Amino acid sequence: MSSAVVIGSGLGGLLCGSILSRHGYNVTVLERGVQTGGCLQSFVRDGIRFDTGFHSVAGLDPGEPLHRVFAPLGLMELPWRKVSSPDEVVVDGVSHFLPKLSEVPALARLKPLAYDLGTEFTEDASANAVEWLKAAGLDPRVLLGVTLRLQSPLAYVSLHEYAHIAYHFMNGSWRLDGGGQVLAQAIVNDIRSRGGSVLTRKEVVEINALADGSCRVLCADGSSFQGLVVSDIHPQETASLVRPQLRPSYLKRLSILKNGSGIFTTYIKLKQKQIRFVDHAISINGMLLHFGQADAEGYALSLDLLTYTDGPVNDREAFAQSLIRLAATRISGLEAAVEAFWTSTPNTWQRYTATPNGSAYGILKEHSRLSICVVSPRTPLPGLYLTGQNLGLHGILGVSYSAVRTCSVILGTEKINQMFGFAQ
Ligand SMILES: Cc1cc2nc3c(=O)[nH]c(=O)nc-3n(C[C@H](O)[C@H](O)[C@H](O)COP(=O)(O)OP(=O)(O)OC[C@H]3O[C@@H](n4cnc5c(N)ncnc54)[C@H](O)[C@@H]3O)c2cc1C
Repeated sequence: MSSAVVIGSGLGGLLCGSILSRHGYNVTVLERGVQTGGCLQSFVRDGIRFDTGFHSVAGLDPGEPLHRVFAPLGLMELPWRKVSSPDEVVVDGVSHFLPKLSEVPALARLKPLAYDLGTEFTEDASANAVEWLKAAGLDPRVLLGVTLRLQSPLAYVSLHEYAHIAYHFMNGSWRLDGGGQVLAQAIVNDIRSRGGSVLTRKEVVEINALADGSCRVLCADGSSFQGLVVSDIHPQETASLVRPQLRPSYLKRLSILKNGSGIFTTYIKLKQKQIRFVDHAISINGMLLHFGQADAEGYALSLDLLTYTDGPVNDREAFAQSLIRLAATRISGLEAAVEAFWTSTPNTWQRYTATPNGSAYGILKEHSRLSICVVSPRTPLPGLYLTGQNLGLHGILGVSYSAVRTCSVILGTEKINQMFGFAQ
């Protein structure tokens, strides 16, 4: 049996582990943290569970892109729930609900782009999404939806990213009961049920090529593993672990890629029975409001406020209070209903997931040089492959597609097309 070693237990690493273990590989996933899941991790404060990098997804109806990846992996059996109302964008104090796709005929021409595997770079794909929407007579402030606003600057966003992310949210969004950790744990269980291992507190510190075309990875605790290696961590970080160094032209190619902004989150525990739960996500001036759980009578127990930030946040408390005040312009009575809050900054993300500079989505996919910003799963080392959000698109859909791309390079497109029903 061939061995596969996966560096990092984010969604990308776990999905590659699951797919490879279904094709006969003996898989070992190595995670530096104490929890698996990377951005899918959650934490509990004062009895309330908070999600960190997972709130809602799109594309889970049969035939939609994420359903096509998740169904063959058994992940549609998880407790997904379609959100009862469309996402909401507040523009100049006025709420706009995201229209259904069928209500915006001009978007119909994006369908082929929205359903490809994220590797088609037609002229349209590299257009700037804001300019394209304006030229089509549409209001980008509303149609960009809530998730794409969590990155700055919007001037970088391509139609490629728009078609793969915001477009699908117009068909509705989904929550997962129990949050992102449920998704991560289901894939961990799947890998283990096929004889694989998922090990935490295993920080990979070095990667070496072996004469037989495989690689050896060395962990900080002195243990080592060998086989075909898939790295779910940032390509620049992966390259920095390789000894002897990879060829200069490859390192130079990686060095020109910029990373996107980080995210500041305020996790709020609400006083009981004060604020009505809102099922959908809301965006105000680029800040995302997402309610967590509700009690049996429909009152909210918690609320997350997320906004991007480019620099360090010196006074976290004051910044969080300013976000709460902004959120209160839509959720009346919010300020008085806050029982406690906690915050995370890009530094927190760097500490927990080792993402460079705390960047939330990793490599920025600049529309003006899109084909350069999309990184191949192959590296100059024959036994070392890349996966995860830095390759193509971020988010649960983007990372799932990257995992499919990586495995199709390793296993061949025929096996992958057969497994997922692509290109048929
Ligand atoms: C605040 C925030 C909110 C988000 N909300 C949503 C959302 O609602 N919906 C959505 O679709 N997407 C959302 N996303 C995006 C989504 O969570 C990510 O795109 C995706 O989970 C990234 O997965 P990944 O596998 O690429 O990387 P990661 O999740 O970053 O995983 C990488 C893993 O590698 C580990 N690692 C790093 N270095 C080493 C090493 N040397 N050795 C071993 N292990 C190592 C890390 O600890 C980490 O566990 C959000 C992201 C953020 C930051």
